[in-house]
Amino acid sequence: MKKFNNGRLKIGIQKNGRLTEQTIDLLKRSGFEFDAYGRRLFSTCRNFPLEILFLRDDDIPEYVQDSVCDLGIVGENVVKEKMAKVEVVEKLGFGMCRICLAVPRNSGIEKIKELNGKRIATSYPNVLEQFLEKKRVISEIVEVSGAVEITPSLQVAEAICDVVSTGTTLRTNGLRVLDEVLESEALLIGNLKSMNKQQKILERFLMRLRGTLVARKNRYVMMNAPKSSLEKIRKILPGLSSPTVLPLAEQDMIAVHSVVPEQVFWEVMERLKEAGASGILVTPIEKMIL
Ligand code: ATP
Ligand code: ZN
Repeated sequence: MKKFNNGRLKIGIQKNGRLTEQTIDLLKRSGFEFDAYGRRLFSTCRNFPLEILFLRDDDIPEYVQDSVCDLGIVGENVVKEKMAKVEVVEKLGFGMCRICLAVPRNSGIEKIKELNGKRIATSYPNVLEQFLEKKRVISEIVEVSGAVEITPSLQVAEAICDVVSTGTTLRTNGLRVLDEVLESEALLIGNLKSMNKQQKILERFLMRLRGTLVARKNRYVMMNAPKSSLEKIRKILPGLSSPTVLPLAEQDMIAVHSVVPEQVFWEVMERLKEAGASGILVTPIEKMIL
């Protein structure tokens, strides 16, 4: 089938669900201007050759595989379940969740091996099958499309395999986690062929998106310190490049500016203070182009 191509990148995103808000926020922060309100099916970006298709998340992997969309933003859990042939272009750092095996609290089941010969209800049959195969456990997979957590009390299954976030739903249904099957976050996926075909726009698209993603993971830090502390401070700063060092009006004092990854932020701050830094200012970074 020949696909409609108007020289624009087409990206599929979730129309209405847990990923929608953060996906739209990421695209907008990356500088793409488009309308996302109402029940529209697609939107054309005003300042970039990009078309946004609003879809059910379950359809996104296949649409990307079949190059209906060049790119898509969807949970890793859905990508794995649909077993679509797509490239993972970027991990996006939101939409975190876990798919877990859970059993009734009082079932006495402690090990996965004990699920041999038992029924497990799930809406992730493929993910579960692969997991059980790896663990060499043979269970009957009962596919259900929703309300998985009530299946044990309905005697439909002895265990479930489902998305767990806080565990509250499990607890209210008298279940407890037995094991983790998959850790998931939102992914940017792409169709290899169409990405190669549209390489120029893709590179421009990715530069903008990554500029925002990298910036989110870092903070810009400014501090004052005695000149004599500089060597110590330099060693503590995990910066992407060497820090900026400026003289201060006060003799033997300097200002040091650097980028610090969010992940190690507090640890670095503590060590900087110990090394003699004072008046530490921290600001978010809007964009970072590496
Ligand atoms: P759609 O109508 O598009 O089919 P859906 O109901 O299948 O939506 P959502 O519940 O909106 O899906 O979840 C979308 C994605 O959000 C999930 O596939 C998963 O990757 C991620 N996610 C993050 N936290 C959770 C959670 N607590 N429960 C379920 N999914 C979560
Ligand atoms: Zn869905």
